[in-house]
Amino acid sequence: MSPSFDRVRDAFEAVAGPGKQSGQWMTFQCPCHDDHHASAAIAHNQSGGRTVVRCFAGCDDRDILDRLGLKVVDLFDEPMRREAPLSASERAVRKRAGERARAEAEQRREATRADMARRRAELERQRGDQLGEPEFVRAYLYERADGTPAGSVVRYVTHYEHLDVKTFRQFRWDKTRKRYAPQGFDPVLYHLPEVRAAVEARTTIVLVEGEKDADRARALGATATCNAMGAGSFTQAHVDQLAGAERVVIVTDRDEPGYRHAQTVREMLSGAVGAVYVVQALTGKDLSDHLDAGHPFEDLEPVDPEAELAAKRVCTVKDVMRATSPHARPQPPTHPPPPTAMSATAAQVASRSPAQEKDEVAR
Ligand SMILES: [Zn+2]
Repeated sequence: MSPSFDRVRDAFEAVAGPGKQSGQWMTFQCPCHDDHHASAAIAHNQSGGRTVVRCFAGCDDRDILDRLGLKVVDLFDEPMRREAPLSASERAVRKRAGERARAEAEQRREATRADMARRRAELERQRGDQLGEPEFVRAYLYERADGTPAGSVVRYVTHYEHLDVKTFRQFRWDKTRKRYAPQGFDPVLYHLPEVRAAVEARTTIVLVEGEKDADRARALGATATCNAMGAGSFTQAHVDQLAGAERVVIVTDRDEPGYRHAQTVREMLSGAVGAVYVVQALTGKDLSDHLDAGHPFEDLEPVDPEAELAAKRVCTVKDVMRATSPHARPQPPTHPPPPTAMSATAAQVASRSPAQEKDEVAR
């Protein structure tokens, strides 16, 4: 396909086995986190002459490269430009360095392979045998700004002996055939027409990590949205759709991919919207857990995702560079907006029977 794509694919296959083509992406099990699905993906960017590596759960692409025994230069099609011709001794030095680098890369891949096999075995032990095919749980419809259908995200659950695993699939609305086709669709925010109305009305927009939480916040009177396919899939198109908003409140999941996602989204939104706040559940992992525990919406607690990542010693090259930069950028405020912006009350939350909310079994 292209030199860089072939190189990255081969490295991935060496540690994770054959990839699966899915639209423009080839997906693999991520080598950097306990991956229940194939969250890591690669794609070739023809115009940029490079291959893109991404973990849709939010792992840093440099950590992934490291696990694959690759370097950033390996992502580019064109080799680095050659300087003046080398002498025989210089060539010999380069050759030895190249051999050493290849041996080290293979060692890294071997370590990653062993680590992934260990994780897979542990995962299989934890969940037991699969019981039947994935079951349909719910379809979430996505619309364009003008209200026309763009596509839907369908949630499935697969039952195993000891636990349930949720999965999501995208379907594009085919206007001419009047049906959904299994394909990605335009990167529109969930409930985009409502989001645009809130931008116009200068009211608060709540940004969560999944459709289920967006619908729960919406049921409590908030304008709430998310991007399809969760952490790691927030793009510039989503920023443009929020541009001009008075205030965006990001409700981050209380885990590493969640904090990474919130941190990325906060940076992407800064300058495009008036104010960005990050809050999290008082108990549990996400907004649903928070509400299920009986906490009112406005009790979501302020959090700095960057500080959380640092405290967990989740350290990346980017973090180190930011921490040591003499010109550290000022951070946007992280305290929550006044409660008046939200309409949920403890009474409203308490009046909802827990059974109503248990329609999605998979966690
Ligand atoms: Zn990952």
